[in-house]
Amino acid sequence: MSELARILREIIATEGPIPLETWMSYALAHPAHGYYMTRDPLGAAGDFTTAPEISQMFGELIGLWAAQYWAAMGAPATLRLVELGPGRGVLMQDFLRAARALGGFPAALDVHFVETSPVLAEAQRARLEHEGAPVTWHHELDTVPEGPAIVIANEFFDALPVRHYVKAANGWCERLVGLDARGDFAFTRNPVPEDSLRATAPEGEILEIAAIAQKTMTALAARLARQGGAALIVDYGHAETCLGETLQAMRRHAFVDPLRDPGEADLTAHVDFAALARAARAGGAQTFGPVTQGQFLLGLGIVERAEALMRNATAKQAADIEAALVRLVSDDEEVELAAGKVRGMGGLFKVLAVAQHGLPRPAGFGEDQATP
Ligand code: SAH
Repeated sequence: MSELARILREIIATEGPIPLETWMSYALAHPAHGYYMTRDPLGAAGDFTTAPEISQMFGELIGLWAAQYWAAMGAPATLRLVELGPGRGVLMQDFLRAARALGGFPAALDVHFVETSPVLAEAQRARLEHEGAPVTWHHELDTVPEGPAIVIANEFFDALPVRHYVKAANGWCERLVGLDARGDFAFTRNPVPEDSLRATAPEGEILEIAAIAQKTMTALAARLARQGGAALIVDYGHAETCLGETLQAMRRHAFVDPLRDPGEADLTAHVDFAALARAARAGGAQTFGPVTQGQFLLGLGIVERAEALMRNATAKQAADIEAALVRLVSDDEEVELAAGKVRGMGGLFKVLAVAQHGLPRPAGFGEDQATP
């Protein structure tokens, strides 16, 4: 049994079952044994792969997007460029390379990373130390200096702990993690229902609430509303709030039991973009989208970018660029290419923009999705 499993077992044995949100917080962020604290989970050798790790085009296009929006903001002399959960720093490296060609934009950039993992912060430092843009690290958004900002978050919100409520005969009861008769971790529920939840649903139905994500978003939106700027949120998830749960655990690119081996698997939930957008508007900002990642990247000209890269590529490189393009934009679960099968992220992944009121619609968000 892992050290974290021992710690959690002891907590549950003495205090009783703990909320799923607490369980996830321990599993992901326990200072000594949490999943993100102890490893670099990304890439083929890790547990999952993300868009910036698939292709340089992702970070480059976001760099161009940000430069355009900075101009729309009136080209402030200093822009706080903030990334939440920057992983291995790949997105930012591609962003900065694309930005270097763009007039006054690179000189305005003051880069801040919000990252809790010491392992990933070190990977970020190593990757970015020669990029000519000093980076400051933070554990929370709160300590990023004031001023107009552009905030990027790719696969950050899915990593925040969620709460579950189960519909029982007496109401919606919070889902807890306890110990079963054999002493294994098992789901149970609080016998006392949560009074504020009144939706009718069949017994056994589950309601998933990303309270930490919503709180984080409201604080972020309030900052943008006060000090100017925009945020770009990219993640897998759904455009509408609905019943059901999406908790998942991933290890070595395969799904595993979320209560097995806490701290050893990536625990996530799909992002409820409707709830996140409501949280942003509650913070006083306007929202655009969500649009699918496919719509967003096609709108920013990813096909043209891929063609430009292919012009200077070997046949093997060109096939890789094509495969990356299809993976990023296709909304088909499986696409057959000469190089083999790829799985499209373009439909499951969504993009939401949050901006100070008065700023224009950002590129990639079409014409009619504004929700003021
Ligand atoms: N954006 C990167 C990495 C995604 S993985 C990419 O697309 O490749 C999630 C990232 O969020 C990791 O860097 C992880 O360490 C970080 N993270 C998770 N929970 C966090 C929290 N509560 N605060 C700050 N960073 C967090």
